[in-house]
Amino acid sequence: MFKKILIANRGEIALRVIRACREMGIKSVAVHSTADSDAMHVRMADESVCIGPPSGTHSYLSIPNIISACEITGAEAIHPGYGFLSENASFVQVIEDHGLSFIGPTAEHIRTMGDKITAKETMRKLGVPCVPGSEGGVDTIEQAREIADEMGYPVIIKATAGGGGRGMKVAQTADDLEVAFSTARAEGKSVFGNEEVYLEKYLTLPRHIEIQVFGDGKGGAVHLGERDCSLQRRHQKVFEEAPSPALDEATRQKIGKTCADAIASINYAGAGTIEFLYENDEFYFIEMNTRLQVEHPVTEAIFGIDLVREQIRVAEGMPMSFKQEDLKINGHAIECRINAEKVPEFRPSPGTVKQYHAPGGLGVRMDSAIYDGYKIPPHYDSLIGKLIVHAPDRAAALARVERALGELVIDGVDTTIPLFHALLREKAVQSGDYTIHWLEQWLDTNPEI
Ligand code: ADP
Repeated sequence: MFKKILIANRGEIALRVIRACREMGIKSVAVHSTADSDAMHVRMADESVCIGPPSGTHSYLSIPNIISACEITGAEAIHPGYGFLSENASFVQVIEDHGLSFIGPTAEHIRTMGDKITAKETMRKLGVPCVPGSEGGVDTIEQAREIADEMGYPVIIKATAGGGGRGMKVAQTADDLEVAFSTARAEGKSVFGNEEVYLEKYLTLPRHIEIQVFGDGKGGAVHLGERDCSLQRRHQKVFEEAPSPALDEATRQKIGKTCADAIASINYAGAGTIEFLYENDEFYFIEMNTRLQVEHPVTEAIFGIDLVREQIRVAEGMPMSFKQEDLKINGHAIECRINAEKVPEFRPSPGTVKQYHAPGGLGVRMDSAIYDGYKIPPHYDSLIGKLIVHAPDRAAALARVERALGELVIDGVDTTIPLFHALLREKAVQSGDYTIHWLEQWLDTNPEI
């Protein structure tokens, strides 16, 4: 049993892990930059270590500093949260080389899935359906043109190392291809240090549906249904729900089993998410995330389980605490990502939170690390909270999220709260009839939120 875990992250996800540790009787160590000395994760953890200046590169992304913090505090394991080093295979290797444990899959699995071309090849071999596209990387514009002409437009050019919605460019017609190709390559190189790109058919009416999987690292695996994350802006999720309004139980079980079997056959350990586009009753794999997702609470809500606790158990070599037949969906859950941004431009709005009041009541969970007087630093992601509601069915969940949003007060900075109030009044959101393009189109026609 681990006695002490270091959390290599900040914000709400650091609190999320600290909470699981505390309930399991495990001590927690927070790390922080100088910009986060007053952050809630530092206050809430049992111990804390300053690991560098405000810039993420020199603090939350500094592997030597994080390893030193482990050695100073005697932490035996590291939970990476999401973002930062959570999908960095070299980090996992260094952790293992120091005789420490990483709470997550092996370096090899992270490496395989972190490269989108290799991930697609691996998944195809494991029987998972993929988006039609190039076989492997595309090096020249001539090659790209040949494939796109054959496949038909629109197409999307993706950086193999891309993530967070970056390194992807759409070519609606042959005229756009050259610019899309060179910009995706340039972005891949400048942001991710790898200019390799590949081509995919650009689907025009899909939903984004992802399957939560969990493996014990010894050939055992389960799926925990799906999350529908179709409401996106710039390929980034804004509002998520589980289950998806578009799937029936038979479809869910079929794709869920395909995913669970795939990760079982590679002895995958811990939490993972297999992301698909879903169009005309077909699933198309796009990528796998080898970590906890931001939107994991909607799955926790409908299954009544603690995914972080489970991650810690599996990292200790213990069996999963549930089997596939134990996992039954109960009700409906919705998550709203609350960002410190001014809508409708979505301009980051760091600053001081003058007043914060979290909503409460039955079926309401607010995961946030802000507090009255908290100064949101400008150096990091603008996510400052997640409002999650759970109710017996979708209609009740919609009513509950509206009620909870009405109680939520964050004064002093601009937030995306007004966006959700406006969205909940929309028919498409009320009926669940939306695709990944719906939100952007709606934003184009509704500049006043
Ligand atoms: P990232 O790693 O940056 O999150 P993903 O491959 O997961 O990138 O894609 C993110 C989003 O981009 C998807 O949810 C979807 O909205 C859009 N997208 C990706 N591939 C396609 C495609 N082939 N057709 C249409 N949209 C796509």
